[in-house]
Amino acid sequence: MAPVPESESQFSSEVYPPSEAMRARAHLPSMEAYRALYDRSVREPEAFWEEQALTQLDWFHPFSKVREYDFEWGQVQWFLNGRLNACHNCVDRHASQRGTQTALIWESDTPGEGRSVDYRELQREVCRLANVLRHHGIRKGDRVAIYMPMILEAVYAMLACARIGAVHNVVFAGFSAESLRDRINDARCKAVITADEGIRGGKIIPLKRTVDEAVMACPTVKFVFVAQRTGNKIPFYPQRDVWLRPAMDAERPFCPIEHVDAEDTLFLLYTSGSTGKPKGVAHTTAGYLLHAALSHRYVFDYQPGDVYACVADIGWITGHSYVVYGPLCNGATTVLFESVPTFPDAGRYWEMVERLGITQFYTSPTAIRAVAREGDEFVKRHDRSSLRILGSVGEPINPEAWKWYHTQVGEGRCPVVDTWWQTETGGIMISPMPGATPLKPGSATFPFFGVEPVVLDEQGREIEGNGVTGLLAIRNPWPGMARTIQNDHQRFVETYLRPFMGYYITGDGCRRDEDGYYWITGRVDDVINVSGHRMGTAEVESALVTHPGCAEAAVVGFPHDIKGQGIFAYVILNAGWEEGQELIGELKNEVRHHIGPFATPDLILIAPGLPKTRSGKIMRRILRKIASEDYGELGDITTLADPTVVEALIEKRKSIR
Ligand code: ATP
Ligand code: MG
Repeated sequence: MAPVPESESQFSSEVYPPSEAMRARAHLPSMEAYRALYDRSVREPEAFWEEQALTQLDWFHPFSKVREYDFEWGQVQWFLNGRLNACHNCVDRHASQRGTQTALIWESDTPGEGRSVDYRELQREVCRLANVLRHHGIRKGDRVAIYMPMILEAVYAMLACARIGAVHNVVFAGFSAESLRDRINDARCKAVITADEGIRGGKIIPLKRTVDEAVMACPTVKFVFVAQRTGNKIPFYPQRDVWLRPAMDAERPFCPIEHVDAEDTLFLLYTSGSTGKPKGVAHTTAGYLLHAALSHRYVFDYQPGDVYACVADIGWITGHSYVVYGPLCNGATTVLFESVPTFPDAGRYWEMVERLGITQFYTSPTAIRAVAREGDEFVKRHDRSSLRILGSVGEPINPEAWKWYHTQVGEGRCPVVDTWWQTETGGIMISPMPGATPLKPGSATFPFFGVEPVVLDEQGREIEGNGVTGLLAIRNPWPGMARTIQNDHQRFVETYLRPFMGYYITGDGCRRDEDGYYWITGRVDDVINVSGHRMGTAEVESALVTHPGCAEAAVVGFPHDIKGQGIFAYVILNAGWEEGQELIGELKNEVRHHIGPFATPDLILIAPGLPKTRSGKIMRRILRKIASEDYGELGDITTLADPTVVEALIEKRKSIR
């Protein structure tokens, strides 16, 4: 089970110490400064977090205890009995102290057509939207689905929910009607907030139509609020649908704020989940917000006056923590990026950096690879002197991409913070500190405050010392950790806390090198990551099997130059069906329809059979190798029910491109 790296060359030994200029102004100017704070955070966690909670957050009512936990039952609480509001912390307190400072810069799909909103305007808009929700019967604890493009209203909607104590459930606006429906139903959402259409890379995305199709089978949904992005004609059902803008304009720009408990749920967010059943991760208010804000401050070395840009979609946790909650809690100026890295050309990011004067830029390895592939001219064409820090998240960043990012984009001047974390962790867990950490390309380096990573062997025993490889787990709770899975606390406990008592199990493998640096080697199970979109293989397989011709499917990832990973599907046909281009097209459509275009398989192999163990389990290890055209070392195949199938698959693989 322990994922051992294929070769030592995966680990680069080069070290990049922070520059004098970086040290001179950073919050943490040395490894000693980092160590001192980190050691205190794990030796005296209660004192450390109490101090942080009191200095970083505003409270309506003080908490009586810092934490209480029991991993066996998944009972985790932080800042007990404290009362606060995330919207107050992200909006109101800044509106009164720095009201004319820019809060959000909306970067429209079309370069230069965006606009900015200061903290006062943000407060007015959020209040108006919160009043609209209240007047339609949305109350504290109610769930609201948000299926929006990257427009200002998406952020207003999240904060408006937080303001009235409603729980938002943002669903990435690339998901199909079916996926949206499942996520709405599982969370029992009372309303959906959407837009007429979205625009990404010049292409129109029919959001409202998708919502209409989804909510036909969503009995809990009473209202659909519709923002206008394109203004094109769309179906509208007056009994259920509400145009957001006129409704907001009719409201007072003030809305009283709900004093919620520190442990009241702030939001639900569904991850792909390898079983295919959506997994609604629940985050609560105080601990999550504190983790997001504190990590944003230190990892991106946030300073007043910075123009900070995380280009993730709000449909993912990165958008929640590092576009919205972390930066706004710190009173920062944060960019909301509507477009894609290659529109209108591969220089989009850097043109935006120059035009907006961006100081911190945070993206994913897949985006970095996609633009790096187009050549250095797209970077050089634009002035990037405003940049101070570059960030990466979502998957391991290979040293080559790291170096390109560091050298070409950052001119060797900007530290690259490779941040490892998960939807379930709420915020960054392992990452360099820009003014302190000597960097190694490809390593996420050291833990964030309060985070105690351990390396476990397959029996769940801690492997001490350096130069070791195993399963990455976390000892003890941290404030931002997820508290449960919606409707399935049992699954939460069994997935994360019970595999090995006393630890949070990440599902990722790692290596702690000779110097104590952490290197994430990938996940232990089989989730595929295509251009930053993560999906469980089971979800794609389920979609394929809905085709009448498909008897069985097995999906694995294979290396893809641009997307990082492509999707390779093995399909077994039902009797009477014949292989052909038309059928392949239909199968692809099936996935597109059930999950979304981003999940479409790149290659489909119509297979005579699948390699299975005698107990009936598909041996993905072998399928992955065949998909990658790596036929040399297939490992032990003696446990296969029918070893001859492997030869047949290899023959078949050689014939498709
Ligand atoms: P699901 O849990 O449903 O399978 P997911 O794990 O794909 O979804 P996320 O929570 O967004 O969804 O992704 C977290 C995972 O992404 C981590 O567990 C890890 O495998 C990978 N990851 C994120 N950041 C990094 C990083 N900096 N280096 C290496 N891997 C990373
Ligand atoms: Mg995961």
